[in-house]
Amino acid sequence: MSTMQLGECSSIAVKLPSRIAGLNRLAYNLWWSWHLEPRELFKSLDRTLWKATGHNPIKLLQQIEPYRLVAAAQNPAFVAKYDTVMQKFDSEISSTSTWLNTSHPEIASGTIAYFSPEFAIHRSLPIYAGGLGILAGDYCKEASDLGLPLVGIGFMYPKGYFHQHLLSDGWQEEIFEELDFNEAPIAQVTTPDRSPLIIEVPLNDSTIRVVMWEVILGRAKLYLMDTNIEQNQPSEREISSRLYVGDRETRLKQEIILGIGGVRALRALGISPSIWHANEGHTAFMMLERIRELMAQGNDFDTAVHQVQATTVFTTHTPVPAGNDAFSVELVERYFHRFRESIGLSRDDFLDLGRITRDDTSFNMTILGLKLSSYRNGVSQLHGWVCRRMWHSLWPKVEEKDVPISAVTNGVHVPTWLSHQMFRLFNKYLGEGWLENHDDPTIWERVMDIPDDELIAARRWLKGKLISFIKNQARKRWCQDRIPADQALALGGLLDSEVLTIGYARRFTDYKRPALILYDMERLQRLIQDDLQPVQVIFAGKAHPQDERGKQLIKEVFQIARDPKCGGRVAFVEDYDMQAARYLVQGVDIWLNTPRQLQEACGTSGMKAAINGALHLSILDGWWYEGYNGTNGWAIGSDIQTISPADRDRYDAESLYDILENRVVPLYYQRDMSGIPHRWAQMVKESIRSILPRFSARRMAKEYTELFYLPASQHLQQA
Ligand SMILES: *Cc1c(COP(=O)(O)O)cnc(C)c1O
Repeated sequence: MSTMQLGECSSIAVKLPSRIAGLNRLAYNLWWSWHLEPRELFKSLDRTLWKATGHNPIKLLQQIEPYRLVAAAQNPAFVAKYDTVMQKFDSEISSTSTWLNTSHPEIASGTIAYFSPEFAIHRSLPIYAGGLGILAGDYCKEASDLGLPLVGIGFMYPKGYFHQHLLSDGWQEEIFEELDFNEAPIAQVTTPDRSPLIIEVPLNDSTIRVVMWEVILGRAKLYLMDTNIEQNQPSEREISSRLYVGDRETRLKQEIILGIGGVRALRALGISPSIWHANEGHTAFMMLERIRELMAQGNDFDTAVHQVQATTVFTTHTPVPAGNDAFSVELVERYFHRFRESIGLSRDDFLDLGRITRDDTSFNMTILGLKLSSYRNGVSQLHGWVCRRMWHSLWPKVEEKDVPISAVTNGVHVPTWLSHQMFRLFNKYLGEGWLENHDDPTIWERVMDIPDDELIAARRWLKGKLISFIKNQARKRWCQDRIPADQALALGGLLDSEVLTIGYARRFTDYKRPALILYDMERLQRLIQDDLQPVQVIFAGKAHPQDERGKQLIKEVFQIARDPKCGGRVAFVEDYDMQAARYLVQGVDIWLNTPRQLQEACGTSGMKAAINGALHLSILDGWWYEGYNGTNGWAIGSDIQTISPADRDRYDAESLYDILENRVVPLYYQRDMSGIPHRWAQMVKESIRSILPRFSARRMAKEYTELFYLPASQHLQQA
């Protein structure tokens, strides 16, 4: 991988006793976010502060009482732990015996540029909104683990992130949190004279200046662009401040900076990627900038296009036409007329890159990505099929099945999402090396050897952690914020860790049908209020600030949670984020997913739940369409068919209640004399066995490498 030639990164280093000075370096490499030992090490410096800083080692080192650092440096037990962690860190980061070096050394020396509008790494770096960011973050971590020479390009959104509070009627209130860059695990990219490295991006009639922040993820790096500097006009400084702004023009500016600015940023860093991967259409302008570069070097347009296509991977995540990112052709012409003139294209020829026919009034970023890449994929096998159908008109001469869009099913980064309890069980029963080879299905046959009582004990412990996390949040809101008591109960104040617990957590938006389980309240109440075999349902999720329907759905759920008829057994947990997600996916018994069929491209939260031993109960859509095997969870509704949406909701809701009443509840409460549900435990094991290796980010990253990166790099060698 090319290294940075332009000087260094300036981070805010804390003065540490020299014996433990490596803690600074450790804190600035988010490697700690997916390894238990470094987190335990930071925590042992000051447990209270670790919690108060939201598990942020930078903040911890800045705020800790100096005497504690001095004491730690003199404490033999701490120093021994420190040495072990630093040794593991250094040897992992510098190891050359990675999967890539061993299996595909021919591409190990290049660089893969990975463009994404959001990255979810850890809560100390809140620059994500949802699933797309989680995928990108998990992918970068896995790339580091496998030794893929990946450099991520994205945005720093200082005001990108909001915390969710519900008002007393359940309406979502957004509290924007401004990120303090000094407290985040990031470092500004500087020139050799220590001033910020500034790149320039032409934007319509002006020029925007962008600075960059470096994030280190194990062996991988991430560069985040930021427009909030004095050299820009006030309005321009705001361009990168928020994620997914509603207004189209600002969105276009953001995407120009991400795509065109991103390529320029890499060049300024002295990085020449051999492979370019665009995660979702929002990043597709990077392909245009590379065409411009190649033409400036003397290539003609067709050669440049061909060269860009041959080295570009484009991943689309959108399953419905309306979800594709598009701009009016007038707006695009306004911002791109100079650009297109510089590459000698007429207005129509340029606009054709983002549309199917000349009559189209919008310029579609997915079409741009599909046209300028040779390696294209959807994010589950079913989504691949949906994409081929949706984009058939771009390849009218081939049959639908031959439309050149394939699929790489998403996966989750196992070390990030697997609970400590499950780690311990796997260490004990799967034998040495399971983590190194966790995408190998044969290893997982051994899950069947885990004794039921140990598995169930781990599951109980995790559910207990979840319930106390939720109750503590509700308690805080009641005691500190003085919310009414019934609101605190609706936030989960009466949850019970002995009860069969269903979790539903994701973005609240119409197609995901969060309220489907509330469709027939009488039937749900019978389940909830059963004296002997009760059920409780925990909801969480934010609505996009502009999504009125999503907010309405949250309110509906909240009103039901507050109704005494539900006895405190329906709860809405505020402020769903990576942290809350960890508790939820690890702690619930059942993970529920009820999207309208064919509208969920993949979904990943169910995978996180399954690897921790929760059972998946879902519509056959996204990854579950290929993941469900008849014995590893349950499928709601039926295989693909065409019923009207209204009938579909009723049909799916009835199927959901039938499964809960006749299968889930009886299985969960069928216990032996010591309270162990053996048949349930059997199903949990079958779920882990069949899901963990296949739906891991490791399997996914290897597929991207072998299906796309290898052939793309071969093209380069021939060229
Ligand atoms: C995993 C995750 C998601 C994505 O989950 P879906 O199943 O795609 O809805 C969204 N938000 C957070 C915080 C997550 O952890």
